[in-house]
Amino acid sequence: MSSTVTPLKHETLVIVGNGMVGHHCIEQLIEQDALARYDVHVFGEERQRAYDRVHLSEYFGGRDAESLAMCEADYYSRHGVQAHLGEQVLEIDRECKQVVTGNGRQPYDKLILATGSYPFVPPIPGAEGNSRLVYRTLEDLDGIRAAATGARRGVVVGGGLLGVPQEGQPRAHRGPPQFPRMGVQGGPEALEGGGGGGPDPAGPQIRSGGSADTGA
Ligand SMILES: Cc1cc2nc3c(=O)[nH]c(=O)nc-3n(C[C@H](O)[C@H](O)[C@H](O)COP(=O)(O)OP(=O)(O)OC[C@H]3O[C@@H](n4cnc5c(N)ncnc54)[C@H](O)[C@@H]3O)c2cc1C
Repeated sequence: MSSTVTPLKHETLVIVGNGMVGHHCIEQLIEQDALARYDVHVFGEERQRAYDRVHLSEYFGGRDAESLAMCEADYYSRHGVQAHLGEQVLEIDRECKQVVTGNGRQPYDKLILATGSYPFVPPIPGAEGNSRLVYRTLEDLDGIRAAATGARRGVVVGGGLLGVPQEGQPRAHRGPPQFPRMGVQGGPEALEGGGGGGPDPAGPQIRSGGSADTGA
C-alpha cells in the first residue's frame, strides 16, 4: 500500500507589534521551527527593532538604543523573518485577510496582535497636543530630553512606578545637567509602591493625594 505525504501548506503569519511580546513570540516560533511552515512578517510602528522597555529609563542615563535591543541587528533576516519597522498597521481587512499599512497590503493566514498598550493621558484641560509628553518609547524619551533642554521646571503627573524615580535607576528627573527639577503629582499611594527608598530629599518634590490641573 502506498502512502502519500501531503506537504505542509506554506502559510503567512503576520505579527503586528514588535515590542517585547512580539519579539518573544518570534523567538518561540524560531525555536519551535515554525518558520518551516510559515512566512513570518512582523510590523512595528517604531523605527527600532524590539528593545528592552523595562530598562528604558537607562537611556536617560546614557545607555544607547542599540544596547537595549532584544536581538542582534540581523537576527530577523538571518532566520527569514521579514521585519517591517517604522510601518504602522492602519487597518485589518478581515474579509480579505490582509493588513493595511501606508506602504500597501500584506495578506495573512494567521494574525497575531502584540500591540501592547498606550499611555493613558487623563482628560485634564491643557494636556492636549504637544503640550504634554508621555513616557513609553525611545522616541518619547528623546522628546522629553528635548523639552527639558533649557527648561527650569517640569511636572510629572502620575506618581507610580514610572513617575517616581526608583532606587538604582538613573536620576532621570533630577535636574542639571540634562533635566530640570521635576515635581511629581500623584495619588495618596504615590510613594507606597515606589520600590523602597522613597523620595530623595535632594530629588523631586513630591505631592501626593492631589490631582493635577494644568491651569489652562
Ligand atoms: C519605562 C518603563 C518601565 C517599565 N518597567 C517594567 C517593569 O519593571 N516590569 C514590568 O513587568 N513591566 C515594566 N514595564 C511595562 C513593560 O515594558 C510592558 O509590559 C511590555 O513592554 C509590554 O510588551 P508588549 O510587547 O506587550 O507591548 P509594547 O512594549 O507596548 O510593544 C508593542 C509594540 O507594538 C507597536 N504597535 C502598536 N500598534 C501598532 C500598529 N498598529 N502597527 C504596528 N505596530 C504597532 C508599538 O509601537 C510597540 O512598539 C515598563 C514600561 C515602561 C515604559
